[in-house]
Amino acid sequence: MNTEEKPTLSTEFIPVIGLEIHAELKTKTKMFCSCLNDPLERNPNIHICPICMAHPGTLPTLNKQAIQNVLKVGLAVNAEIADFTEWDRKNYFYPDIPKGYQISQYAYPLVHKGKVKVKDAKGNDVEVTLTRIHLEEDTARSSHDKGDFSLIDYNRAGIPLMELVTDAVIYDSVMAGNFGRELQLLLRTLDVSDANMELGQLRVEVNISIHKEGEPWGTKVEIKNLNSFRVAEKSIEYEIQRQKELIESGGKVIQETRGYDDATGKTFSQRIKENANDYRYFPDPDLPKLYISKIPEFNLESLKANLPILPNAKREKYTSLGLKNEDVEMFVSDSFYGRYFEQILKLVKDEKLQKLSVNYITSDIAGQVKKEKEIKTELHDFINIDQFVEIINLIGTEELSSRGAKDMIAVLWKGDEELRSKKAKDIAEEKGLIIKADPEFLNNIIKLVLKNNPTQVDDYKEGKEALLMYLVGKVMKEGKGAINPAVAQEALKIALK
Ligand SMILES: [Zn+2]
Repeated sequence: MNTEEKPTLSTEFIPVIGLEIHAELKTKTKMFCSCLNDPLERNPNIHICPICMAHPGTLPTLNKQAIQNVLKVGLAVNAEIADFTEWDRKNYFYPDIPKGYQISQYAYPLVHKGKVKVKDAKGNDVEVTLTRIHLEEDTARSSHDKGDFSLIDYNRAGIPLMELVTDAVIYDSVMAGNFGRELQLLLRTLDVSDANMELGQLRVEVNISIHKEGEPWGTKVEIKNLNSFRVAEKSIEYEIQRQKELIESGGKVIQETRGYDDATGKTFSQRIKENANDYRYFPDPDLPKLYISKIPEFNLESLKANLPILPNAKREKYTSLGLKNEDVEMFVSDSFYGRYFEQILKLVKDEKLQKLSVNYITSDIAGQVKKEKEIKTELHDFINIDQFVEIINLIGTEELSSRGAKDMIAVLWKGDEELRSKKAKDIAEEKGLIIKADPEFLNNIIKLVLKNNPTQVDDYKEGKEALLMYLVGKVMKEGKGAINPAVAQEALKIALK
């Protein structure tokens, strides 16, 4: 069959994608005991106790901070918060689950519905609606790569884990990846999870099927163990193609769990999927049923009032200041720069100067940051924000040129305590960077520049007007930034007549 005869199958199928995302919550202690929740603990089996090790006769207690965290997420995505909730036992045996069951929520999740705005592959603004968000406990971490045996670390067993399930409304890989990244940003903004995928603090599972228009949905396949959003996107693209080719060649998609191998770019079968009733869910008799409205710490009004500014609100604010889209995203998604910029907005009142500061942050300051090997600090530790604000204000009052400002940023970068304690203007004076209003100073430099560039002066006089800017550049260089370029240009014009 030559290529022209091939049916155009790639456009006929509609992908239906839903995501299940697990996030380890940032809390002081585990979900049902007082063991520390420390994701950075290097020694195995340190943070364990009879409760999370499921010794007979022990009783779990609820972690209020974990519940609050999930409520905050629910409020941030405009979801419905359940008033009644309870915990269920999800029964299965595996060495990473010491009780023989995982405590989860089945019939009464804490949060229903909600939505998150993202962009699809075509760049359209679309909403991903959520089915539910519930709270459960994490399993232990097992490793099988040390030899002919398995090792197990129970430090992670019992850490509060949030599970979020989207509706099956996602239709392309970009939309899925964007949803994941937006959720990650939201969790970090709310400070409820560090959501680091490499550390397994955020884990994505994809449910995916395809069907033709007018036909019932196809059989869904689950893809697990995706350790980055890029990998999730690639696995979706591969799986859409695999299912298409399978159906077109007369085969059937079976309900199963698949893994993804980044080296080959392919998904592979792992196991045939269990049904919910295989887990024999039933309410945990050891844990109290919960009426959210009866517990002061779960007061929704006060939790909502204390939410930080959310990413979308920041986007609107920065866009209304006239910032470019890429600068908006930099400040919204990278809190290292975002926190600094928020401070500037408080310290600089003039909107023009606020916008001007963006150029220096995204070019000069970001350029310096790129040279740093390790960033563990605040941007303020590299360049004192009060001094930077002074620089911006000095540009505003035309006491500092753009060239002078760039030099000042380099001078102040990672300055010692003494330098950081000085006024930026005093340092600029010392360095000769403050623009001199003294006409004598400017005229002497102009004279020198005209004398040193006779060819350019002659060519300019014969009509090559573009050479004026060349000469302005020479004057600025000679003046080491202490000259106002607009003033220099005017003075040069007169001197050349
Ligand atoms: Zn414990």
